[in-house]
Amino acid sequence: MVKNYNPYDEMLATLDKAANILGLEESDYSFLRYPERELIVSIPVQMDDGRVEVFTGYRVQHSSLRGPCKGGIRYHQDVDHDEVKALAAWMSLKCSVVNIPYGGAKGGVRVNPEKLSRRELEALTRRYILGILPIIGPQKDIPAPDVNTNAEIMGWIMDTYSVFKGHAVPGVVTGKPLEIGGSLGRKEATGRGVMLCSLEVLARLGKDIKSTTVAVQGYGNVGQTAATLLYNQGCKIVAISDISGGYYNPDGLNIPEINQYLLNNSQKILEGYNGQGVIKINNEELLTCDCDILIPAALENQITAEISHKVKAKIIVEGANGPTNTEADKILADRKILVIPDILANAGGVIVSYFEWVQNNQSLMWDEEKINEMLRKTIVGAFNDVWAKAKEKNTTLRMGAYMVALERLVQARKIRGIFP
Ligand code: NAD
Repeated sequence: MVKNYNPYDEMLATLDKAANILGLEESDYSFLRYPERELIVSIPVQMDDGRVEVFTGYRVQHSSLRGPCKGGIRYHQDVDHDEVKALAAWMSLKCSVVNIPYGGAKGGVRVNPEKLSRRELEALTRRYILGILPIIGPQKDIPAPDVNTNAEIMGWIMDTYSVFKGHAVPGVVTGKPLEIGGSLGRKEATGRGVMLCSLEVLARLGKDIKSTTVAVQGYGNVGQTAATLLYNQGCKIVAISDISGGYYNPDGLNIPEINQYLLNNSQKILEGYNGQGVIKINNEELLTCDCDILIPAALENQITAEISHKVKAKIIVEGANGPTNTEADKILADRKILVIPDILANAGGVIVSYFEWVQNNQSLMWDEEKINEMLRKTIVGAFNDVWAKAKEKNTTLRMGAYMVALERLVQARKIRGIFP
């Protein structure tokens, strides 16, 4: 990661720009510049060799203005306070842009989970949840999966919280296993939203899906699902990557074969994959390869100013949160490269998390067809709002999305007022 990159400052710069285009006064939206509540916890874990290691965990609640705070939990060695703050703020904006009744939050633990055994991972998760227990809950703040966390970990969270409450509380977390109140379609929801936004933009530009080439950075929950669904739609996936590097085939990768390779690989990474015609490439080569759509679906700050000059894709659909820094964003806009911003493109996950929570609150279970259709309607509706706002103000889709989100948040603040 570049040293002077600060994701929270990036968020503030974009927020100020959108507020400026809307003609807002600083005092109209200054409440969004500061998280409502922040908690830092230390997490002692007894390691398998008997040592005690202490990790640092964060939970930042950016806004509860439009409903309970909502946002994932990330386990990564680079997690820090400013990253979690930025991710929390992006959640407030994301829930607002797709118009679901949530605020924004995010959690993270500074840890490399690959270095932990399964038992250590479970102990870390349960102790972290104990640390943030006073501020989470189904009406307060509802975690979900993010980088390096999954349904199994959400299950441990649900169990830990429920044990302390003395009864089952499925609505405290989303992205859970189906058996304990998870929702059909949740695991694929973020990637499905990325696919739906990609199809929507192709339709608007009058481009044929079948002749579209796609490159995907990050082959985890979001990237793998987006690549697989776009492949199923007839797109040619020319490049993918994960922490082991990039894999490129200008004639199109065999996605079903790759997914099978991952299933058989205990580490669940692409390392060692050498399908027919596949060339190994590095991160920069992936981001700048010849393709129509580039989907960054790994981490923040991947498309930098330097990379943005070399991007060949005409469309970028941001699966990850904050993959493009503000300097790069300006260069991409000048180069007329269309960017579908993160707070819209990857909102599928939180939309279906919301459906999961509604089902939990009512003890219902909807079928997958219904959920996928409700997701499609919600994200395409938001896409239309953003597209129209960007056209009206003659600006980028990122500015359009921030403006749609900001207007709703500012309106909510006006209606609720400021206590006391
Ligand atoms: P994940 O842990 O399932 O997958 C992350 C992937 O990125 C892995 O394949 C990993 O190997 C790869 N990766 C990490 N560093 C890389 C690098 N430098 N170059 C290339 N690949 C790299 O995580 P995820 O849930 O798929 O999340 C990915 C992004 O999407 C994050 O920015 C996350 O905040 C965002 N997001 C996730 C969800 C969700 O529902 N999971 C929702 C919205 C946004």
